[in-house]
Order: sequence, then C-alpha cells, then structure tokens
Amino acid sequence: MTLVMLHDKSDRPKPALLWEDLTVKRMIVAAVALALLPLAAEAQSYPEQTITMVVPFSAGGPTDTVARLVAESMSRDLGQQVIVENVGGAGGTLGAGRVAKAEPDGYTVLLHHIGMATSASLYRKLAYDPRNDFAPIGLVTDVPMTVVARADLEPADGKALVDYIKANGDKISYANAGIGSASHLCGMMLMNALQVQMTTIPYKGTGPAMTDLLGGQVDLLCDQTTNTTSHIKAGKVKAYAVTTPKRLASLPDIPTTEEVGMGGLQVAVWHALYAPKGTPQEAIDRLSASLKVALKDPKVIERFAELGTEPVAEDRATPEALGAYLPAEIDRWKTIIDAAGVYAD
Ligand code: ASP
Repeated sequence: MTLVMLHDKSDRPKPALLWEDLTVKRMIVAAVALALLPLAAEAQSYPEQTITMVVPFSAGGPTDTVARLVAESMSRDLGQQVIVENVGGAGGTLGAGRVAKAEPDGYTVLLHHIGMATSASLYRKLAYDPRNDFAPIGLVTDVPMTVVARADLEPADGKALVDYIKANGDKISYANAGIGSASHLCGMMLMNALQVQMTTIPYKGTGPAMTDLLGGQVDLLCDQTTNTTSHIKAGKVKAYAVTTPKRLASLPDIPTTEEVGMGGLQVAVWHALYAPKGTPQEAIDRLSASLKVALKDPKVIERFAELGTEPVAEDRATPEALGAYLPAEIDRWKTIIDAAGVYAD
C-alpha cells in the first residue's frame, strides 16, 4: 500500500492518496482525460480558420474555374472560408512549389492538374519532389481539351486546319500556359502528331491566353473545355476538335481529333487536391470528406456539365486513389516526354 503523507497547518499527518482508494483511481482517470481533451478538441475542431487553396495558374483559366467551384462548396461544408490564391508561372511549378514548402497545418492546399505529373519530367531541376513533398487528398475531375483558334483563322474545319498547320508551321502562333501546362502538353502532342513546329507564346495561365485569342493577337490554343466551352458556344472562337475518343455531349458538333486526322492527340486533364507532406491525418481526412461532399454538390455537378466535364467517382476522391494515380501518371508521361525530347530546362 502506498501512502503519500501531506502535512497541513495543524501538522497532523493525513493519508492523502491511498492507491487502492476508488476515488483516487477516478481522480487519475479524470486527470488523464483532461490532459487529452485539447488533442481531442483539436481533432474535432479542424478547421478553425480560413484555408488557402493555391491554384498554380492565373485567375479566369480552367484550373481556376474548377478550383473556385470546389472551394465554394467546401467552404459551406467545412464552415470556414476556402480562399483561392492564384500563383501562376513556369507551367504551374511556381504555385506547386509554394505549397510544397507551406506550413503542413491543414490550412494550405493545392488544386493542380496533370501538370503535377508532367512537370516531374519536363523540369529536370524542380524545386520540389512531386512524388514525396505532398499529401494526396483526392482526385477531382478529368477535363477534356479542345483545339480552338481565333474566330477568323482561315481553315474551315479540322482537316483543313491540319493542312494549314503543315503548310505554315512556325508562322502560326500557339498559346499555352507555360512548359508543363496542359496546353503546352496538348501543343507538344499536336506538333508531334503533325511533325511540325509552331511558334509558342507562353502565358501564366490560359485565362489571359484566351483573352489574346479572343482579341486575335494569337492564332491557336488547345485548352480545357472549362475555359473554351462558353466562347465556342458564343461563336467567339473557332473550335476544330476535342481531344477525347468520343464527341462531347456539351459540344456535339465538334469532331474528335481522330476524326480530323490529329489521331495521336488524345488527352484529358485530370485535376486533384493536395496538402503539404506532414499535414495532420485528421485534416487530410476532413478535407477528403469535404471534397467528396463538394463533388456531390448539385451546383458543382451542374456547372461541371455545362463546362464539358464531371466529378470523378467517389472512390477516386480519396488520398489512397490519388496516392496511387500520381506516381503512375508521372511514369506514364516520362515515357511520352522523353520520346518527344522536350524539356523546360
Ligand atoms: N489551361 C492551363 C494549362 O494549360 C491551366 C490554366 O490556366 O488553368 O494548364
């Protein structure tokens, strides 16, 4: 039996803690529970402040469009603002690098696309490691691309465009969002398919690139339907092909690249959500759960459909699914990029 003797003012010793005493055991359990309370509270209270969602391209582009729809829905679900911050440049690698080095506290996330995989091969000196510097949260959506041109470009259809590109080569100005961007990839695959070089004009995102296309300052752009659909439907740009095996319900009159002789050019731009490596698991779990809610949000589904895309299936909006998909995509695109021999640095 363990006696801890305490002396009060009357200096008569009192037995204070009798280990076998039930009251004592209850006191100890209560003390341990109180000690653990802040941890439990922290886990239940995340998020306690605004979350920054970094988009590695300019505002107004397709990645930004996807991000703002998802961020708005997640804000409602999380009860905290999810604020989009555009950090453009170098084909999306500046914004991705910003998140790789951010505090892993659950309050900075990255919404990026296929460029997360391709930049691993296009940039031989990246400031971050796409395989290991991020905690995957989940896949978001696979967005088709469209080959579009300024409204007054001469070729009347996709087949005529192929002949026009072969005949004019580098006299044609081709806009993209920098090496590593989806529009760069699409252009690289188009030029490979046609064995011709055009003159590339890089922007910090295809939001500003579209502005110049609409103004006639640049000839051609291959970009996600989340940026081009509204302009195609308004007749403000000329659409020649979609980069999917089948025609799109949202753009039924636009033929596929296969139909117009750009066969090799098939690409869908997958988008996903990441946090910095080391972000607490309860934050990752809460963010992934909130992403799933956003991808079932009728407003998100409806707007995605208008823009030619749809949310991924629920089992892909998970850390496990993205954790398996990203390295496989990095490997797949390395083969394609090394075969093209095109690098950013
Ligand atoms: N569409 C751009 C790209 O080519 C990304 C963006 O500006 O949203 O990757």
